[in-house]
Amino acid sequence: AAERYAALRDLPAVARCGSHVRLMMNAGIMADLPSLNGSGAEGVGLFRTELQFLLRNSMPRRSDLAALYARVLKAAEGRRVAFRTLDIGSDKVMPYMNRPEEPNPAMGWRAVRVGLDKKGVMRMQLQALIRASNGRPLTVMFPLVAEMSEFAEARDLLMREIERERHLGHPLPATVEVGAMLETPSLAFAPDAFFKLADFVSIGGNDLKQFFYAADRENELVRRRYDTLSLSFITFIQKIVKRCEDNDCALSFCGEDAGRPVEALAFLGAGIRSLSMRPAAIGPVKDLIRRADLTEVAALIDEAKDRGEERLRPLLLNYIRGLPA
Ligand code: PEP
Ligand code: MG
Repeated sequence: AAERYAALRDLPAVARCGSHVRLMMNAGIMADLPSLNGSGAEGVGLFRTELQFLLRNSMPRRSDLAALYARVLKAAEGRRVAFRTLDIGSDKVMPYMNRPEEPNPAMGWRAVRVGLDKKGVMRMQLQALIRASNGRPLTVMFPLVAEMSEFAEARDLLMREIERERHLGHPLPATVEVGAMLETPSLAFAPDAFFKLADFVSIGGNDLKQFFYAADRENELVRRRYDTLSLSFITFIQKIVKRCEDNDCALSFCGEDAGRPVEALAFLGAGIRSLSMRPAAIGPVKDLIRRADLTEVAALIDEAKDRGEERLRPLLLNYIRGLPA
């Protein structure tokens, strides 16, 4: 199987129906970057910046971060890298930052909430990203955005830092793309203006699923209880696809489920056309995409819904079994 996937590396992820799927990889440390070439990913759909903060025992300096981000962009050789701003709190705790004890950290003071309340750290990170991009395109996304105003405020911070750099006569990014991670159901119901303001939305499936089902992703007792491939969750994904299409907002899905071929196929059937996953998953996912017809998968979802079914997984497994090898 490994050889089969390696042979696919330079082939496009095009389904039998002709639809092209953008396959990107997730990364978090410099050592992940060589996988861009090895996996055939089109870019980095999620760069988890918090790892740099968690692996040390003091707050990194702006110049250290800027140097690191510049190395990442250089290694990407022009391919898109979506930098996700610091997602701390919950399971990710920085030893050098004082945090209050929280009864339920996953639903607590984390991610963009911390960034907006403690703007110093967020601004420092945004400055590092701007300096690193230096004439190259810059893509930034904010984690766990729950409502439009949070996104507008975070985006504004970035734009103000760019203005500041311009004022100082420093080099600027060639282009700037700003997106939000959709990880709470609330954001799917944000006003149209949110989807128009965001250049893109990236579904953080790990968190979105935990909040959709109210089932803690860290809790062994419940974390496997609900299936991503239930028609309720897939219907919700379809709703997000529709909101983005209606407002001309690019959409992708990152999160572990994107790297599971059956789940990936369901997302594509729901209308998603861009997935970001761990590098080793790209081969198996691409292999399945090239054998499948996404209009057939979409029809399968519609039929299952019409019949009032709850579970999509058996139907999809059956569909996959019938595909040409
Ligand atoms: C997610 O929640 O799906 C995601 C991609 O972010 P993380 O796993 O880092 O929370
Ligand atoms: Mg998340």
